[in-house]
Amino acid sequence: MSNNLDSWRRLPAAQQPEWPDRGALERVVTKLEGLPPLVFAGECDNLKAELAAVARGEAFVLQGGDCAETFAGATADAVRNKLKTLLQMAIVLTYAAKVPVVKIGRMAGQFAKPRSKGTEIREGVELPAYRGDMVNGLDFTPEARTPDPERLLQAYHSSAVTLNLIRAFTKGGYADLRQVHAWNQDFVAESPAGKRYEQLAREIDQALAFMRACGADPEEFHTVEFYSSHEALILDYDHALTRIDSRTGLPYDVSAHMVWIGERTRQLGSAHVEFFANIRNPIGVKLGPTTSVDDALVLIGKLNPDNEPGRLSFITRMGATKIREHLPELVEKVTASGAQVAWICDPMHGNTFEAPSGHKTRRLDDVLDEVAGFFEVHRALGTHPGGIHIEFTGDDVTECVGGGRAIVEDDLALRYETACDPRLNRGQSLDLAFRVAELYRS
Ligand code: PEP
Ligand code: MN
Repeated sequence: MSNNLDSWRRLPAAQQPEWPDRGALERVVTKLEGLPPLVFAGECDNLKAELAAVARGEAFVLQGGDCAETFAGATADAVRNKLKTLLQMAIVLTYAAKVPVVKIGRMAGQFAKPRSKGTEIREGVELPAYRGDMVNGLDFTPEARTPDPERLLQAYHSSAVTLNLIRAFTKGGYADLRQVHAWNQDFVAESPAGKRYEQLAREIDQALAFMRACGADPEEFHTVEFYSSHEALILDYDHALTRIDSRTGLPYDVSAHMVWIGERTRQLGSAHVEFFANIRNPIGVKLGPTTSVDDALVLIGKLNPDNEPGRLSFITRMGATKIREHLPELVEKVTASGAQVAWICDPMHGNTFEAPSGHKTRRLDDVLDEVAGFFEVHRALGTHPGGIHIEFTGDDVTECVGGGRAIVEDDLALRYETACDPRLNRGQSLDLAFRVAELYRS
């Protein structure tokens, strides 16, 4: 591979595992380098073109999935439920926003987690922190917590299985627009908050009936484009899955359509920023409340020097209490610089707190408030609120509090299944979609 693709090795890489056996890691990397791509460069370019429309204000992004996917969680039911929920949200948002919704899963590769502490202590025992199934196991035992490079191969295969299911579901009739709308009608009928959404669901129904009457039955009603994404944290993995595109001679990380840099690894001069500068995928960078205008502008200069539309998305995660204070200057100055970026709101990571029971959780109301703040800021500046990025699952877990079937802090233990951060459950996710739709009407 060209020198550029290895330049990150000279720079500090935060959040990398301490592999006990470098030789074993190198053998795994060699195997990964010989495996077929999970996605094609041309598909990454298609997503880039869709994200360019987002940057121009002509489309909206819905990106979501688990905080941390697990190998055990790659079942047909779990993947289908996530997909189903995301498609249901997308219809509501498409109708409300009146623009195409670009659908991106935190799926088929979201197996690595940055941690604030390198170790975890339980009852006096200290072990390495869980860093995602790609690195080690969640069980609190020395065996599980020891990083094992064979897990990189398992991550590849688990991604392949998930992507295969996604492709089958989205192209095989399951994603049919009328079917997805019927699921939404069921949700409105069954949900305690449903009354509030009846009007919107009825309007969508009428729009579909009108098109049916006209004889309109486009291909887009039967299949959807769905893209994969993950935080490219473990550089040995994403680098081993980078290939030179035969059409253009340019390098793409073919482990996912889009990859992003997390809040903890986006330092200027970091190995992550360097690696991302040299791949041609559409990329994201998470920006927390301490991000300065200068940080953002330097990141733009490094990651998108040619100002290619669709190449760079900023995924802001400020927190509900901070977004109205911190986001305006960032958006204003970046816009004034002439940079074309898509602005996406992650209303999850700035709103995490610990419940008295010790569970990490989030309030749906805080999530909604951050999204509302995001819309307010962009409206005031005349810029485009380009999308949302959420942690959710299609199952009825009890990890976040609030929502139509109000989950309270005492309920958290009932079904708390996440391997990392708390996710919105199916009902809370649909609530969120309808509430965002309402923001378009206000
Ligand atoms: C995440 O997306 O799960 C995550 C760790 O986010 P951030 O980098 O914004 O903290
Ligand atoms: Mn998370």
